[in-house]
Amino acid sequence: MNFDVDDAVTEFRAEVRAFLAQELSPELDEQVYRSGVSHDAAFVRRLAERGWVGPGWERGDDHHKLDPYEVHVLVEELTKAEAPIYAISTTEMVANVIRGVGSEALKAEILPRFLRGEVTIALGMTEPEVGSDVAGVRTRARRDGDRWIVDGQKMFTTNGHVTDYIFLLTRTRPDGPKHAGLTLFLVRLDQPGIEVQAVYTLSGERTNIVFLSEVVVEDRWRIGDVDAGWPALMIALQDEHSAPFSPHLARLIDAVEEWGRDTGRIDEPDVRERFGRWATTLEVARLLELRTTWMSANGQVPVAEGPMSKLFSTESLVHAAEDLTELVGPDALRSRLDPTALVAGRIEHALRFSLGTAIYAGTSEIQRNIIAQHGCGLPRK
Ligand SMILES: Cc1cc2nc3c(=O)[nH]c(=O)nc-3n(C[C@H](O)[C@H](O)[C@H](O)COP(=O)(O)OP(=O)(O)OC[C@H]3O[C@@H](n4cnc5c(N)ncnc54)[C@H](O)[C@@H]3O)c2cc1C
Repeated sequence: MNFDVDDAVTEFRAEVRAFLAQELSPELDEQVYRSGVSHDAAFVRRLAERGWVGPGWERGDDHHKLDPYEVHVLVEELTKAEAPIYAISTTEMVANVIRGVGSEALKAEILPRFLRGEVTIALGMTEPEVGSDVAGVRTRARRDGDRWIVDGQKMFTTNGHVTDYIFLLTRTRPDGPKHAGLTLFLVRLDQPGIEVQAVYTLSGERTNIVFLSEVVVEDRWRIGDVDAGWPALMIALQDEHSAPFSPHLARLIDAVEEWGRDTGRIDEPDVRERFGRWATTLEVARLLELRTTWMSANGQVPVAEGPMSKLFSTESLVHAAEDLTELVGPDALRSRLDPTALVAGRIEHALRFSLGTAIYAGTSEIQRNIIAQHGCGLPRK
């Protein structure tokens, strides 16, 4: 067993940090915070110029493919810095599905543009009445010759107001088992019949509700076979369940350490006791994330290990944010919009931000169900 990363990965981490120091300007950071939109086309272009969009993909350009540990470090550093990568991350999830089950024409249309950072895709799974039980979606696609007519609503379509496409989960067979009548499409968001309305969330993140009314979608935009959307969707959900959340905990711990040093309270026993606790938790969260990377690198699918990692790191973040806010006291609650806020309001933001992490990408209850079934071998419920 070896817990070391090699020198090349350590050097690569320094390269990513140097990139962020140059490209993630205070103005861009402020724009992301104030707008609640984790996407910036110019920043994504900079990433693409380095070959860091789809970094682990085999590619036909001048960039070399990063190994899984370099990709791990890249995502960790970008996430910790709160770089605007959410839209390009959801785009990569969908690009993976297209690469797996899309037609050759769709691959040719989307994948090279994805690697150049020229295309963005929002996730359109959740609906106002359907979240965890995603196979229950009601958005309907009816066949009409070589095109489809789509009607319905999607909820929490994050970045849907700035992306080019929505990855749309639809019901194509209203009768029969619900998992067997689903079909996926890639749908342009700037076409007649689509209306995108803002939804603002507790953390300040902007997401959307998308209304679809008699939207015409040519059959060439279908992803995979008709009524075969469920297994294809699993490719995307598996990626989502393995997303790293420990960098958010690391950022919070750094902020509280900065507060401790600035105020001279870093040597107090209570402060040190809590740091010991959360540093240990952070280490476990990182190791669980590294394990999912190791499994993927070795051709294994982290069916239960991804959810274990997501569950542990997001619930730890929620508890750490509460505990460290209590430690710092009421001053921790002043927001970044107050120029004199402690550590630029990062503790207060972590407290609000943490709650959503235990909901999106599968709630904690759903992660526990997956672990019980696939990790412990309990019967499906
Ligand atoms: C900030 C934010 C951004 C999001 N972005 C996107 C996005 O871009 N695209 C997208 O498609 N979706 C997005 N979502 C939606 C997210 O995936 C759903 O909110 C999530 O899947 C939960 O669905 P729900 O809100 O309908 O809750 P429900 O599924 O109605 O769940 C309500 C409660 O019941 C529990 N529960 C449900 N089923 C079970 C069960 N079988 N066993 C035990 N407990 C259960 C849940 O854990 C939860 O506590 C986003 C959500 C948020 C908050």
